[in-house]
Amino acid sequence: MTDKFSWIEDELRTLQEAGLRTTIRTIGSACGAWMVVDGKKVLNFCTNNYLGLANHPRLKSAAQAALEKWGAGPAAVRSIAGTLELHRELETRLAAFKEVEDALYVQSGFCANQAVIPALVGKEDIIFTDRLNHASIIDGCRLSSAEIVVYEHCDVEDAERAIKAHKGKYRRAMLITDGVFSMDGDIAPLDRLHALCEQHGIITMVDDAHGEGVVGRSGRGIVDHFRLNGKFDLEIGTLSKAFGVVGGVIAGRKLVIDWIRQKARPFLFSSAVTAADTAACLAAVELLEQGSELVDKLWENTRYFKEGMRRAGFDTGPSATPITPVMLGEASLAQQFSRKLFDGEPGLFAMPIGFPTVPQGKARIRVMISAAHSREDLDLGLEIFAKVGKELGVIS
Ligand SMILES: *Cc1c(COP(=O)(O)O)cnc(C)c1O
Repeated sequence: MTDKFSWIEDELRTLQEAGLRTTIRTIGSACGAWMVVDGKKVLNFCTNNYLGLANHPRLKSAAQAALEKWGAGPAAVRSIAGTLELHRELETRLAAFKEVEDALYVQSGFCANQAVIPALVGKEDIIFTDRLNHASIIDGCRLSSAEIVVYEHCDVEDAERAIKAHKGKYRRAMLITDGVFSMDGDIAPLDRLHALCEQHGIITMVDDAHGEGVVGRSGRGIVDHFRLNGKFDLEIGTLSKAFGVVGGVIAGRKLVIDWIRQKARPFLFSSAVTAADTAACLAAVELLEQGSELVDKLWENTRYFKEGMRRAGFDTGPSATPITPVMLGEASLAQQFSRKLFDGEPGLFAMPIGFPTVPQGKARIRVMISAAHSREDLDLGLEIFAKVGKELGVIS
């Protein structure tokens, strides 16, 4: 008898040959500018720890205190017995931070998209979605059973064409876009998308996972960046990136958030986030409310590093944020580049990203800048990139 799973061996070999098989590294230290990765201490340009909060003393002490007071886990879903005072406090703070009426804290950003989209649209409805939206949006759209219409990336004219082409053929419509696109670091034209949707009575939703803590006043996010506070119907976010902890947030009008509390399946059927995590998130929001130093440092580091990379001759794509793609083209080259960065002395940790996360032929190394990097870290990073870039003939 043949092995039922022999096809997996074939598939894995195909991935390997195309340079698309992911090597999953194991981390042996807290997240910071330097980390132990697969047993080796390396300079870290790989995590979404934009503000260096992942190992911040204030977040850790808040988590420790909450662990003592509330114990390890809530042992219930939010809608039964898992809504802690801490959850409500975080939600109130997040709503105030984003200048909206209400917010709902869920287990992750991924969950937030699964929660919101099917709660608001269904079989008789339509979703207009950016071609490069995050996988969790794509899955949320599919779960909803609504008709999915993809418009070209950040292309407001194409979105308008799609809306007009489907006018009158649905009950409700929703337009969804990433705020900051996670692979290219470019920004959605939220102001123009908002105006377009207002004109046609379409529900607006933005996923700001990479914008929160990064853009807008004191890191208030992409909606604040465009000064559209309270005008986008739904703002989705994550507490797992710049905020340094874990969890997702759905923010908007109280009426809408109330409805999502009744209907969202990850909220109703999957247990609540722990008190320790929630308290750490609260501490992160408080830090941001108190000032913009970390956000300013992040941007200073971003400008410095990008300028250095451009001067060295690298193509860093259309990014307008700390996400810095180093465009390489072929996935095999990106893999080889990443391995060489890691294997040098000292090593540098930055992941190669290829198809299907990015289109074929657009493989890259994605460099993530953090406020945790010192000037010396950035200089060292530039030096290592230049050395490997020359060795592989990417720059001269
Ligand atoms: C990372 C990301 C998510 C997922 O957030 P998690 O909190 O890690 O689940 C969702 N949407 C976008 C746009 C992201 O970049």
